[in-house]
Amino acid sequence: MSILVVGSVAFDAVETPFARRDWILGGAASYFSTAASLYDRVNLVAIVGSDFPREYLDFWRERRVNLAGLQIQEGKTFYWSGRYHMDMNTRDTLDTQLGVYADFHPQIPVEYQDSDLLFLANIQPELQMEVLDQAPHARLTVLDTMELWIKTGRARLTEVIKRVDVLLMSEEEVRQYTGQASILAGVRELFALGLKYVIVKQGSYGALLFGADGTYFSAPSYPLEEVIDPTGAGDAFAGGLLGYLSTVRPAPDGTYAVDDLKRAVVHGNIIGSYVCSDFSIDGLRALTMNDIAARYRELVDCSHFDPDWRQGDR
Ligand code: AMP
Repeated sequence: MSILVVGSVAFDAVETPFARRDWILGGAASYFSTAASLYDRVNLVAIVGSDFPREYLDFWRERRVNLAGLQIQEGKTFYWSGRYHMDMNTRDTLDTQLGVYADFHPQIPVEYQDSDLLFLANIQPELQMEVLDQAPHARLTVLDTMELWIKTGRARLTEVIKRVDVLLMSEEEVRQYTGQASILAGVRELFALGLKYVIVKQGSYGALLFGADGTYFSAPSYPLEEVIDPTGAGDAFAGGLLGYLSTVRPAPDGTYAVDDLKRAVVHGNIIGSYVCSDFSIDGLRALTMNDIAARYRELVDCSHFDPDWRQGDR
């Protein structure tokens, strides 16, 4: 199996209450590709400017990330800066500069066309749509977005939502997009657009999986004593989710078993937790499947409870 991703590859400037870094590798597709490549081959579709360091490209090549769909163009790489609050689930975007993304038109190389899983990571909804149009054979399509596109590209974003299977949104984005204070009411509105699943990311509180068929699952986050930089946790979450799904076999009609989706959400939370332990993608560089398995076991231990609660049942 292979996973196709389109999204931002960026330079970030990140400020937390405790530290600050500028010009570090960021971008939704960067986090996603680095995370998902722990599980499977990733086909990256993105653009960078002539200022983008070669060392990052070499790093991805070594990790099963196919760069045939990465355009390198004269100009500036996407730049984003943000500042986190003391509650690091909340942040303000200080600056977004599209750079070479302003005139980008993704071209899906022929060798990407049999990708089974498609992730539309955070970028202009127009570009997500162009990729969706060029990947009609994807068995599962998953969409992520961000506050900026909900504000400035809402109509186009809605068209993309109508064409995908799974939507990832933070709790705040569900409220922003639907205008509903209640997440359940917001998710109900989203299902009216034809989605099969909605996954609501709750930062350090974990993630919720909702199915149009009534599925509901709440996955805890991995408890971290120290968060260095939460940037990219959502994209790495998606990398863990799709990465895990690429390792399981769907039913002949292409649908995934609910238990596999639940496991995938837990993998997402685990990979997200590793990203938070350092700046940029550095928390993922040395990560192994054994590390992931250890956190998986811990999460099972800390969230499992006995279904028999009456004394007489014992
Ligand atoms: P996350 O923390 O998972 O929401 O992802 C943050 C990453 O997304 C950062 O590395 C940014 O470079 C990138 N990013 C921020 N804003 C946007 C945007 N409007 N479109 C695409 N990527 C963005």
